[in-house]
Amino acid sequence: MKPSGSPCPLDQISIICFKRCPYLRSYLTEIIHAAWSCGVVPSEWKKACTILIHKKAETANPANFRPITLESVPLKVFTSCLRNRTFQFLAENNYIEQNIQKGFTPKLSGTLEHTAQLAHIINKARVKQRSLIITLLDLKNAFGEVHHNLIYEVLEYHHIPDHIKNLVSTLYTDFQTSIITEQFNTSFITVGCGVLQGDCLSPLLFNMSFNTFIQHIKSEKYRQLGFWKSSENGTPLNPLHWFQFADDAAIVSGQEKENQMLLNRFTIWCQWAQMIIRVDKCSTFGIRKQLTKSIQYLPKLFINNCLVPRVELGKSFRYLGRYFDFNMSDEDHKSEVYDTLTNILNEIDDLPLHPKNKILLYSRYVLSKISWHFTVSDIGKTWVNDKLDSIASTYIRKWLELPISATLSNVLLPHNKFGLNIILPSTKFLQCQTVSRKALKSSPNEAINNLWKDTSNHKNVQYDKYKNTKDVLNTIRKHHEDKLQHHLISQGSFFSNIIKHSTLSFNSIWSSLQSKLPKNIFNFTIRYINNTLPTRKNLLKWGISPTSECSFCLNPESLLHVVAGCKTYLNEGRFTWRHDSVLNFIASILKSVNHCNLYADLPGYISPSVLTGDELRPDLLITLENKCIYILELTVGFESNLLTNATRKRQKYQDLINEQLKNYEKVKFVNLPISSLGVFSHPSLDFTEMLKDLKFDEQCRKYYVRKIINICIRSSYYIFCKRNKEWDNPQLMSY
Ligand SMILES: [Zn+2]
Repeated sequence: MKPSGSPCPLDQISIICFKRCPYLRSYLTEIIHAAWSCGVVPSEWKKACTILIHKKAETANPANFRPITLESVPLKVFTSCLRNRTFQFLAENNYIEQNIQKGFTPKLSGTLEHTAQLAHIINKARVKQRSLIITLLDLKNAFGEVHHNLIYEVLEYHHIPDHIKNLVSTLYTDFQTSIITEQFNTSFITVGCGVLQGDCLSPLLFNMSFNTFIQHIKSEKYRQLGFWKSSENGTPLNPLHWFQFADDAAIVSGQEKENQMLLNRFTIWCQWAQMIIRVDKCSTFGIRKQLTKSIQYLPKLFINNCLVPRVELGKSFRYLGRYFDFNMSDEDHKSEVYDTLTNILNEIDDLPLHPKNKILLYSRYVLSKISWHFTVSDIGKTWVNDKLDSIASTYIRKWLELPISATLSNVLLPHNKFGLNIILPSTKFLQCQTVSRKALKSSPNEAINNLWKDTSNHKNVQYDKYKNTKDVLNTIRKHHEDKLQHHLISQGSFFSNIIKHSTLSFNSIWSSLQSKLPKNIFNFTIRYINNTLPTRKNLLKWGISPTSECSFCLNPESLLHVVAGCKTYLNEGRFTWRHDSVLNFIASILKSVNHCNLYADLPGYISPSVLTGDELRPDLLITLENKCIYILELTVGFESNLLTNATRKRQKYQDLINEQLKNYEKVKFVNLPISSLGVFSHPSLDFTEMLKDLKFDEQCRKYYVRKIINICIRSSYYIFCKRNKEWDNPQLMSY
C-alpha cells in the first residue's frame, strides 16, 4: 500500500502507524486472521467516509464529481491482501485476459500500450490505405452501476473459492458510508449498488465483471472482426478488435459491419450486466480508401437504434488522454500543452513570491501538468525546443532578473554545482519519451515489444538511446557544463574556475544557504555566477552605458574589478572590511575554546605580532598549552584567483611554520581561501579539521561554515551596491 493513502476520518489511523510500529502490525495480523477464519469482516470496518472530487464543468451537478471512499486502513490492508491473492489466482489459471483489458494490471502501463497501439493502427491504415473504424464507448457511472448480484456471479464465473466469495459478500452487505464535505456530512448510507472508488478490491472486481465480456469476444470468431496487421510477407497477424482500460472501451475493426457486430455484442452484455451506455457520449471515427488515397469519413453505427455520434472530418477524438486524428498530427496536444504552460506560468508570474518559490512551482507543478502530453503524444523534440523552452526561459529569466543575453546553463545545473536544478520542458520531454519507449520495450506483452521494434525508426532512435530519466538529465547537464567550460568564456568563468577547486560538501551548504537569501541577494548570486551583473563593462556591452571605466581608477569596471580588484577600493579598505568581517566571526567562535590563547589581527584581540613579529603577521593564531599552534590565514578573493591565493599564502608562511616548530610540538597551518561569493576551495578543509581538533561537533562546524558563506555573500553584495559611490566605512558585518 502506498504510504500516501489517506486515513479514514472515522478512526484516523494512518498506514504510517503500521509501517513504523511492528507491535501494532502483530495486532492487525491477529485481527485479519480472525476475520479470515470466521469469514466475517468486523462491522466497524464497514463504515467509511466518501469525499467528492470535482472533475469538470459546473459544481452544482453531483454527476460532475468523482466520489472517493476513504476506508479504514486496517480494512484496506485486509482487502489488498485479498486482491493480490485473487489476482495471482486469476493470472496463474489464465482466467483473466490481460491483452485487451489493461486497467489496474500490475507491472504494465496499460494506457501507454493502448494509446501507442491505437496510434500505430491509425498510421498504418492511412499509409497502407486500409479501411478502419474506431468506436469509443461510454458507460454511465460505470463503477457505481456494478450490481452486487453481478459481483457474486462474476466471482462464480472465475471459480473463486466459496470462502472468499462469502467474505466479499459480507463485505458488501451493509457497507455504510457518509458523504462528507467541508460544510456538512450526511448520515450513513448503505451502499446497495456499485463498487466503491478508493476500495482496494473494487478495480479488480470491476475488471472481473468486464472480463466476462472480454472472454466472450476473445474467441477467434470475434477476433477476426478486428483490424488486421500484415506481417512482412503479407499474412495477417494479431488482429486487434477491442481496447479496454477500466471502463474506457474502444472497438477497432476494418469494416463498419464488423464494428456493428461487436457493438451489438456489447449492447447485449450491457443489458445482462445492467450497465447503461451513454450513446451521446460515444463516438466513432472512420478511415477508408477513396480512389487512390486514404481519407477520413463518417461511419454509420447504431446502439439501440441510435446513431453513434461521428468524429467530424479533420477533428480529433480522445482516448485515455491521447488525441487521435486522421494525420496523427498531435495538434491538439500541442495547443493544450502550449496553453497550459503559458497560462500557469503567467499565473505564477503574478504571485508575490520569492523567485526560488516560483521556480519550485514551475518544477513541481507546471512540468507535471504537461508531462502526460509529453508521454503519450508524438510531438517532435524540435517543436518543444522552439516553442516551449523559449516560453519557460523567458519567465525564468524574468524571475531571476537575468538579461535576455544571459545563458541559463548555470541555473540548469544541480545544486552542488551552484545551479538551481531547473529542468527545461525539452528535457522533461526527453524524459517522458524515454519512459514511454522503455514501457513498450519491456512490456510483458510480445505484441507491444514488436510495436516498439516497428516504431524504432529514425525519430524514436533519439529517445531509445537513453537508459532512463536520470541518464537524460545527466546527458543534458554534461552538455551545459561543457558549454560553460569551453564555449561561454565570460558567463562560464565562475563555473570553470570554481568547479576544479571547490569541495562538494561545502557546495551543498552553499546552495542551501543561497536558497534562504532574500530575493535581491538571491538574484545577485545568480547574476554573479552568470557574470551578468550591471557592471559598466557589461552595460557598455549591452549598449546602456557610454563607458566601461570605473569612476575612481578609470580601469575597465568588470565584476572582478568591483568585488576584488579596484586599487582605490582596496586602499579605502572595502575588501579588508569584508575580510575582517569574516575573520571577526571566526575569532568570535574560537574565543569559546578552553585552555588556549587566541591572537587575532583585529581590534579587541591580542595581535599575532606578539608571537611572530610584524613582518610575517598571520590573521589569527591559537596556541594550546605550548604544545600546539594553529596559524590561520584567511583570504577572500575573486573566484579566478582562488588557487593562486592558496599557494601564495602557503609559500609565504613556510618560514614562519619552520620557525615556530622550535617552540611547539605541532605547528598547523590553516589555509582558508574563500571566494568573494563564499565558495570554499580545497585547502579550506584544514579549517574544518582545526574545528574538529578543537572539539566542535559536526553540526556546529556546518553551522559556522554556513555563517561564513553568508557573511561573504552579503558583504560582497554590499561592496557591489557601493560601486562608484563613496565608501562609508561601515561596522564589521555580523550575520
Ligand atoms: Zn576602480
